[in-house]
Parts: sequence; C-alpha cells; structure tokens
Amino acid sequence: MPAKSAAQTIRQPEKPAAQAAAKSPMVKAMEKLGLRRDIDLALHLPLRYEDETRITPLADARDGATVQVEATVVSCDVNFRPRRQLLVVVRDGAETCTLRFFNFYPSMQKLMAVGNTIRVRGEVRGGFLGWTMVHPTVSGATAPLPCALTPVYPTSAGLPQAYLRKAITGALGRVDLCETVAPELLPGARREPMWPLRAALQFLHHPEPDVSLATLEDHSHPAWQRLKAEELLAQQLSQLASRRARDRLRAPALRASAGGLHERLGAALPFALTDAQRRVCQEIAADLGQPVPMHRLLQGDVGSGKTVVAALAAAVCIDGGFQCALMAPTEILAEQHFRKLIGWLEPLGIVTAWLTGSQKAKERRSMLALIASGEAALVIGTHAVIQDKVVFHKLALAIIDEQHRFGVAQRLALRGKMRPPSQPETAAADGAGPAGAGPSEKVGASLQQEPHLLMMSATPIPRTLAMGYYADLDVSTIDALPPGRTPIVTKLVNESRRDEVVARIRDQLALGRQVYWVCPLIEESEVLDLANATETHAALSAALAGAGAGPLEVGLLHSRMPVAEKKAVMDRFVVGLMGVLVSTTVIEVGVDVPNASLMVVEHAERFGLSQLHQLRGRVGRGAAASACVLMYSTGDAPRLGETARARLKAMAETGDGFEIARRDLEIRGPGEFLGARQSGAALLRFADLALDAPLLEWARDAAQRMLERHPELATQHVARWLGGRAEFLKA
Ligand code: ADP
Ligand code: MG
Repeated sequence: MPAKSAAQTIRQPEKPAAQAAAKSPMVKAMEKLGLRRDIDLALHLPLRYEDETRITPLADARDGATVQVEATVVSCDVNFRPRRQLLVVVRDGAETCTLRFFNFYPSMQKLMAVGNTIRVRGEVRGGFLGWTMVHPTVSGATAPLPCALTPVYPTSAGLPQAYLRKAITGALGRVDLCETVAPELLPGARREPMWPLRAALQFLHHPEPDVSLATLEDHSHPAWQRLKAEELLAQQLSQLASRRARDRLRAPALRASAGGLHERLGAALPFALTDAQRRVCQEIAADLGQPVPMHRLLQGDVGSGKTVVAALAAAVCIDGGFQCALMAPTEILAEQHFRKLIGWLEPLGIVTAWLTGSQKAKERRSMLALIASGEAALVIGTHAVIQDKVVFHKLALAIIDEQHRFGVAQRLALRGKMRPPSQPETAAADGAGPAGAGPSEKVGASLQQEPHLLMMSATPIPRTLAMGYYADLDVSTIDALPPGRTPIVTKLVNESRRDEVVARIRDQLALGRQVYWVCPLIEESEVLDLANATETHAALSAALAGAGAGPLEVGLLHSRMPVAEKKAVMDRFVVGLMGVLVSTTVIEVGVDVPNASLMVVEHAERFGLSQLHQLRGRVGRGAAASACVLMYSTGDAPRLGETARARLKAMAETGDGFEIARRDLEIRGPGEFLGARQSGAALLRFADLALDAPLLEWARDAAQRMLERHPELATQHVARWLGGRAEFLKA
C-alpha cells in the first residue's frame, strides 16, 4: 500500500483538493485521535449504531424513545419567552409534535417553512401539551432512507459525527484491504471459515438493519471476531519481532566462578533458599550465561524473597568482572535494598555505590566516580541511577524492583546504560536491524551491547495477561513463601469499632511487637491525606500513652516530609525504637520489618485490591502470628458500594497473591489492571484479554507460523494495525 500523505488521506472525498491543503481544525482533531492513514480510519470502528432506516409514525412513538418521523410543518415561529427559541409544530396524521431549538439559523427556518415535509430524528417526550422534541436532527424528506444502520463513532469535541462518517466512508472505499493472513492460518479454518477482512469492516461500519445489536455490542458477532483476531495477531507479531530483534543483541555471558562471590554469598546467607527460589535462580543463571541480553520478569508474592534472588544474580554478574545496577521506585525502598545488600555483600569485599535524588552534591560526585571507575561493583538507587551523568565502567546486569512503577522510557534508559555515551540510545530501541545482524556477528564487541535485565514484581500477572502483554519477556515465578511464616489473619472491621482496634494495638505493643497504621487515601488531595494522618497520629499517641512494655513511640510518615526526615522516622521503626508507624501510603512497597505483626488500614474501602494486598504483605514477615485489620466506613450510605465490597471480600477470603490478582483483573478489567504505564500504547482496542483467551492462544501460534512462512505479510500486517505505535510494544 503506497503511503498517502496526511492531507490526501483525510480529505473529505468529494471536496476539491485545494480546500484540504491547509490543515483544518477537524483534520487536526482526527490526527489527535490517531486517524492519519486511510487504514486508521477504516479501523476506527463504531461505538454503537442508530437506526435511520425506518420512519416511525408519531402515533406509534413511545415516551423517551429515539425515533425518526416524517411530518409536515404546521407552524414555524420565533418566541422570546421564556428565552429566544425557534418553535416548530409538525403534524403526522392525527398527531402533532413541537420541536424546540435554542440555537438556530435562517437556513433552518427555510427548511422548516410551513407546508414542507421534513424528516425529524431525536428523543420524543410525551407531555401534557402533546409530543415534544428538543434539538432534533432535521433534514428534508426527499433523500432515500439509508439501508444500513448509521454508525456512531468515538470522537472528540470539534469533530462532528457527520464529518467523521464521510471521512471513514471515503477511506473505506480507497483503502487496500488485501488479506495478510493466509486462510489456513485463520482459526476455525475448516469448520466455520472466518469472514474476510473487507467484509467484516464493511459490515461493522454499515451493518444491515436486521442484525442482532447484542452481538455487535458484546463483540461476539463474526465480523468482530475477525477484527479481534487481526488485532491480537498484530500484537503477538510485534512482540515476536521485538524478541527476535533482541536475540540479535549482545550481552556479556556471565558465569559464576568456582569459589567466587556467588558461592560465598550463598554460604553466608542466614537461611537456606526455598525450592522456588533455587529454581528461579537457576533460570536466571541460565539466561545470564548466554551472550544475549536476558529480559526476565521475576514475579513473586510480597514477602516471597525476591531480594535475595536479585542479590545472587548480582553476585554472578560481579563474579564475571562486571557491574550490576539495582533501581527501586522509592527512596525508602532503595535504601532498604541498599542496607540489606551491603549487609550481605560488604563483608565479602564488595564496594557498593548509592544514588538518590536527595543526595548532597559532594556525596553524589564521589559515588559517580566510584561507578565510572568500576570500583563500585554494585550500584543501588532510585531513578537517579538512569540520569545522564551516571556512566558505568562496565554494566552487565540491570535489576528493576517493583517494575510496574516504572515506565517504558525508564526501562529503556537503563538498558541504554551499557553503551558508551556517544552512541545514540534509539539504536538499541529499534533493535538490530538486518544490518546489525549481518556478518559482523562473530566480532561480538562491535554488535549492539545491552545489559541483562531482571525486572521484579510483587503483582503476579495471570497467565493470559502475561501472554498478551509479555510475549517479549520470560517469566520466573516464586510460588511459595519462605518456611516458618504464619498466615496473616485478615479482619474486616467497621469504623465504628475503632476502639477495639486501638485495644488490639496495645496488646501487640505489650508483646514487644510493632504496628503499621495506614491512613486513608483521599483522592486527589494530598493536603487532606496529610491532615488526616496528622490527626490520627495525634489521637493514637494520646490513646497509647503509657501502654504496655514495648517501644511506645508513635511515628508519622507522609510523602510531603523532607527525605531526611522520612528516613529518620523509618530508621527508628526499622530498629524497633518506634512501636507504631502512622503513614500515608508511602510504605506500600517493599518495606521489610519482620517484627511488625499488625497492619491497620483505615478506610480500606478506598484502596485498590493489589494495593491492599501489598500493604498486608508488610506484616507476616517474621515468625510471629500477624494480622491485618481492614477498617471500612460506609460513610452516609447504608452499605459499601459493590466493587469496594468485592475487594474487601477478596482480601478476607484469600492471602494468595495470584488469586488476588485474578480477582483484581475480574473487578477492574485488563486495561485498568495493568495501568497505562505498563502497557504503553499496547492496550488492545477491540479484543479483551480476559474474554478472548482462545483467540489469543490462536494468535500466539499463528504469529510464529506467519513469521516463518510469510514474513513480508507479517510486516505488512503489523504496519497496518500498529502503524507508528509499533515501537511502544518493544519495551
Ligand atoms: P519480596 O519478595 O517481597 O521482595 P523480600 O525479599 O523482602 O520479599 O523477603 C522477605 C523476607 O523474607 C526478608 O526478610 C528476607 O530476608 C526473608 N527471606 C527471603 N528468603 C528466605 C528464605 N529462603 N528463608 C527464610 N527467610 C527468607
Ligand atoms: Mg521486595
């Protein structure tokens, strides 16, 4: 398909080209919706349809229905009370209807001159004074009725349906819709052949009036099936392609040496690895041993022990004579990793550098020098790790904790840290093209080099989602918790029983245990969040004064505190000087204080499911029996809303992160579940990963075969569907 210029593509077909030359606001509005090429317009499918194929006699109309009537104008007057309006009365048989227009033009008065027969479409209201319609659509009654349903497209302000309809109909007529998928690859090839693409698109834009609207709405109609199959195939193809591009990249092959750091770290650990940890360590080690960059997602429930796995991977890397970087989303978390890892690695002679945004310039400079010289074998920090000034001596492994908190660009930046600064980063993002994979392959050093990448996540992703979004990632899963953990008891408690909760805290303190109290999330108001946390902190301090034998200090932690202060508070809690830590959700991720045995979440109904699960995971990290109290309030309502109830119910019923993730997906749907960041522009428009698993399975398989048998069609297919969005899928 020859590329058409934007102006050509979006021109209203029947207008002369001169009018389309300058970009009209509507053209710009269409571009904003991603509608540039004819094919983009052809794939812009209706949200719903209106039936303009029939005329309803006014006598048959029902109150509140949207109908199209044909009637004769009886009167047409401008009224000034109660406000300026055009009042038109039309007659259809014995019935009359009053049309009201608050904005009108002389041309409308002409169209609706007394005696004219007009076609009027809109919502009719039956009232005391007979039928009325406010701002109906009016046209002359001469044109033949359409024979297909009228599509209603997703649009934006300033882009009228009529304009979009014309543009799309024009594009549909021009666009090349040759089949890219060989018939034998299509699902159900033998039993029930799929609709051809052109027929499916024609149908979805202009369905016949007798179609079952339900099958169009729930996307189960065969025409929709075809479109979803196409879309999923494009997504899988694009992921396969980026995977192959990655296979052409190079990374240092890393192996642990006998008697080296890896072995010594293993021997020095205060615990034995679980079987699950050992298994994922082997999977990671196998990847690291290859001269191709690893892209592995390590998922495991909160508390499953991912950090030690990361440390062992780092040790393999350091053993090989290279540097390892670990990036965490928050300063608290980065600091915690830092502490844990230096505790393990410093005694073994490893120098670790620490990078964070809040660091003093002098300290930063000395850290940067350690990193550039290669003296620091391990670098731990926040986003500061990917800043331009950070130049590694020889980075070979990048680890990202809580990876879902980072965006695609940040992951790319970390991957780019291996190249010398002079080399542009985009080269790696494109993957090595055919040129990069040419005869120079043997040379190794001259090939595109990237570090191995290990991403960690405590939000396990159900299998279909992983397949849909992570075809380019290998996944390792820690599916068991370390031994000796007692399950966390979860209690749902009405806010009215707050006193009982405070009594429970007192009990825990008396046993020498520590407690988290998480304050409610107040949407879009950090100020209110803070006010609330401060108040709770004061109330708890008073209520717990003189309680029991444990550490009595009640601390406050919130996101607006200066970093140093946050750190000081966290320090006191970690070492056990503080009994209760009141906080906003800053503690959500990764904080590890094994002596904490009670987690109280206030207004739990306002939190998301995976967030609650993460919070709960802060306790139950030691051997002590732990509990999580989810305090809810119904506010002024008699009871909780449905989704809030579903979330709390899931929390009370299961402690298994995978089950929680499954339910979360069920409650929120895949788009929300993954979050925009996670998926970039990869969100599917038509297919639904939760509902279309069979099609997804097909697409995965078909993508493989298509790439092998018809690579040129595969390229064409991806270009058709993803156009400029293809590169977003690559990270
Ligand atoms: P997460 O997977 O949530 O990041 P962590 O790595 O913080 O979990 O581990 C949670 C706690 O479990 C830590 O205190 C860690 O030292 C401990 N731990 C990890 N592995 C084991 C093990 N095999 N046996 C006992 N304790 C372990
Ligand atoms: Mg962790």
